[in-house]
Amino acid sequence: MNTFYPFTKIISTLLFTTALLTINSVAQAQVITKEAEDGTLTDVTKATSIAGYSGSGYVYMADKGSLKITITAPTKAYYNLVIAVNTSMGGKSQDLYVNNSKFSTLIFPANNSFFNFNAGNILLQAGDNTIEIVKNWGWMYFDKFTFTVVPPHDYSTTVSSLINPNADQKTKDVYSFLRSNYGSKIISGQTDYWSQLIAISGKSPVLRAFDMQNYSPHNPWHNDWSSWDDGTVQNAIDWYNSTNDKGIVSFQWHWFSPSGGQLQTSIFMADKTTFDVSKVSNTASQEYTDIVRDIDAIAVQLKRLQTAGVPVLWRPLHEAGGAWFWWGAKGSASCLALYDLMYDRLTNHHGLNNLIWVWSTPEADWYPGNSKVDILGYDSYPGAYSYGSQKSVFDQLFSIVDGKKLIALTENGPIPDIDKCIEEDAMWCYFSSWVDLVNTQNTTQHIVDVYAHSAVTSLDEVADFSTEVQFNSNATKQLLVYPNPSTNEVYVSFTSTNNNLETLQVFNELGELMYAKNNISGNVSEHINISDFPNGIYFIQSNSTNTKFLVVR
Ligand code: CA
Repeated sequence: MNTFYPFTKIISTLLFTTALLTINSVAQAQVITKEAEDGTLTDVTKATSIAGYSGSGYVYMADKGSLKITITAPTKAYYNLVIAVNTSMGGKSQDLYVNNSKFSTLIFPANNSFFNFNAGNILLQAGDNTIEIVKNWGWMYFDKFTFTVVPPHDYSTTVSSLINPNADQKTKDVYSFLRSNYGSKIISGQTDYWSQLIAISGKSPVLRAFDMQNYSPHNPWHNDWSSWDDGTVQNAIDWYNSTNDKGIVSFQWHWFSPSGGQLQTSIFMADKTTFDVSKVSNTASQEYTDIVRDIDAIAVQLKRLQTAGVPVLWRPLHEAGGAWFWWGAKGSASCLALYDLMYDRLTNHHGLNNLIWVWSTPEADWYPGNSKVDILGYDSYPGAYSYGSQKSVFDQLFSIVDGKKLIALTENGPIPDIDKCIEEDAMWCYFSSWVDLVNTQNTTQHIVDVYAHSAVTSLDEVADFSTEVQFNSNATKQLLVYPNPSTNEVYVSFTSTNNNLETLQVFNELGELMYAKNNISGNVSEHINISDFPNGIYFIQSNSTNTKFLVVR
């Protein structure tokens, strides 16, 4: 039965993703135009006296009225709306309604001739949709509406390697697991309030977030300013072991400032400490010495996790762009220098190869770059019971990493509505609800619905971080296939535990051989180019097992 369990899981994932891809491919390359003067005009008038319009004229809006058009979308999809307008009477604001709900207030700059104004991306339903401009300020001209479908995110373009080339295999497997689910599944996560959350949801999250806070050497909650082992690291190890290595451990660090501040105050806050992070660039400064002392102290704890075989999503210097923590209080340059120092110290000096580096502040000008980050995150607190997908931030982060890195909700109050995440193409890699806010900012029903959703992965649904394949009598090999689905290339790897030469073959649904590589010795690690394959489901087979696996593109 073990042999077939992963089968089922993969198939269900694939079918889900295939459906999404089919819908999106139909919607692509659609452009819909509508002349404003052909719409329903209420207390606005058609005019032709100003040159430069398209169609048979344009619409003049004075101090009242509205202009409404109906457009028919072939499928439900996001469209970018560009409106050709003329604001020769000065910059103006007007209200935009989509399907009779207010979407936004458009702020048009002054311009003496017709020009194209980008009104943003709008989700249109399949069939008829109404778009209406309602007078807010009035006094301008509308010529034409152009809707261009927005291509869906391609979730298969994340890089296959962690930034640390020496990352250990278990850590790589966690990353592969996250990548293989990205775009089709959202991994559940929670910080403290763990058992209470499970009591509410009925399920255990996959990801559990802990904090290095009390291990900070300059701990203001001890009268002698000493660090405190509050048991968190051991708790993380124990929990990880209790999941049979299927849980994912995350650590942030509410880093008490290396010096400065008063006892019994939260001196990770910028306004509670005099510590100046900009001194990080002066290696002769006391601040630099204290920073390195602190990083070295945390390295001891991270090494405990490494020794115990626990991969860690390591999320230091979070919310830096908000400037409320001391590490972000002096601007991005100081913070990024601190990040570089920490990466170098932990990776190259301390040899920590169990870390996946997570950066969670959404500002583009704070981003360390794709060469320094594995996962880009956002800490989302839109207010209690606000279950939006946070699509605008998702799109922003996706753009920052150019689709090359995973995007996650590294903290959240409300958990986004999963159906909205799917519908609005904002498939966060994971969410991680912040302690009891999960209870005070989400209804019980919402939590239950999220955890019961087929696109949310809970701990009981994790078969393994890689797909187990039964080889020979009692040996187990791990066959990795990712990204899956893919459009260009599939990476297949497994560790050979016998001396036989391996054969790797790919068949289509008709059983036709699409790819073969023979006489592979040692560990199998193949990049298979599938860019010429038609869309569909494919079977991967090795000569040392009869088990077949599926890939779809
Ligand atoms: Ca026109």
